[in-house]
Amino acid sequence: MILKTIYRLCGILIFIGFFSISNAQPTIELTTVNNFYSFTTLSISDSTHKTTKLDGLKYTSLKIEVQKPYENPILITSKNTNGSLNNLSTYFSENADEGFDGTFSCPLQIFDTPQTELNINWGNYKGFVKIELFNAPPISIATQSKLNKAGSRCDKPEMISYNVWREFLPNPKPPREATDVEHLVVHHSAGSNTDTNYINIVRNIYLFHTQSNGWDDIGYNFLVAPNGVIFNGRDPQGVADDDNILGAHFCGKNQNTMGVCMLGDFMKVRPTKKAIFSLKYLLAWKLKKDGINAFGQTKHPQNTGNLLNNLCGHRDGCSTDCPGDSLYALLPLIKAEAARIADSCGLIIANISFLKNKRVTIFPNPSKGAITISYDNLITTPIIMIYGLAGNLVYETSYTPNKPFEIPLSSGLYYFKILDNKSILFQGILKIER
Ligand SMILES: [Zn+2]
Repeated sequence: MILKTIYRLCGILIFIGFFSISNAQPTIELTTVNNFYSFTTLSISDSTHKTTKLDGLKYTSLKIEVQKPYENPILITSKNTNGSLNNLSTYFSENADEGFDGTFSCPLQIFDTPQTELNINWGNYKGFVKIELFNAPPISIATQSKLNKAGSRCDKPEMISYNVWREFLPNPKPPREATDVEHLVVHHSAGSNTDTNYINIVRNIYLFHTQSNGWDDIGYNFLVAPNGVIFNGRDPQGVADDDNILGAHFCGKNQNTMGVCMLGDFMKVRPTKKAIFSLKYLLAWKLKKDGINAFGQTKHPQNTGNLLNNLCGHRDGCSTDCPGDSLYALLPLIKAEAARIADSCGLIIANISFLKNKRVTIFPNPSKGAITISYDNLITTPIIMIYGLAGNLVYETSYTPNKPFEIPLSSGLYYFKILDNKSILFQGILKIER
């Protein structure tokens, strides 16, 4: 999810109850932007606006935004093409996002069948309301056939192309911008954990990002469904590989990032094993491709000087709960697994050593001259001492952990020790290849 989650209201204040529609219906102007997107803005002011009824519709997802926190029960139901009613209070999660402009909205509500009617009882709410409706015509493709057929485990995993899932939807807008990826950012969609129409979910997220947010394309580079199927996200339009296309997922700080969205809400629930399997192979492939140290940290260009984990969650760089507490807690494990896979695929990610529960990594090794030494826990006064193979000390320096520094030695094999307060933390072989 994209915006800051601060106000837990929807699940609390929208309750399941008897629903009736007032006969006094004000006329509602629905602005139809195109076949895929329509919206209306209302000012709920008095009892004549107590209910809102929209019918003769066709929509597959909706988003409701209010000006201020709900103070009274708001009842929402929709009706699908079969005529059966959905009470949306069961769909809305407990978190509502506060937008940059101070408004509040519930997560995008996606339906697995098209809806034809929307009824809202506003209770005593007064204020501005925006209702957005999205319509992604259903398509049917054999998404299951792609499941976990990774081919070689070191290759780019198979995925469903944007050309397939975007069928009958408007094309994304140019231009595209390429970016050198240093940070792999994991998200969750904050959507349903039970809806299995994943292609419909991706299509509706695409409409939300492009039509409502006004973005050129879907925000993420990749999306991973609970059944393990991976979807291509941003269409590279021939500018660069799809994993090197600048996205829209990291609070305006998208440079040098690749965004992966896990479909579902992982605040309290863990992703499925199949989804984690696909995620770690996708990440491993990118680590290997770009020579990224999974355990390292790199300064993000727009992160006010702070180092950011090379493999991180959305919340590490932005004010958000994303990717959810449960998924976030799994990231160290996913990171270690992805690094292990990348390592087995030929990326010599580092010397890795575990000392007193501290993980030390030297990256890259072999090196062209600059290396980065990282730790799980910060060491106060680290020194690296480098010896020739004859045992002679050839270089010694203190350094700042997690920041690259140059080793001014010619090509060759060296033996090194890392010391902290004179105790040896780590020793190994360093290869310089200039
Ligand atoms: Zn996110």
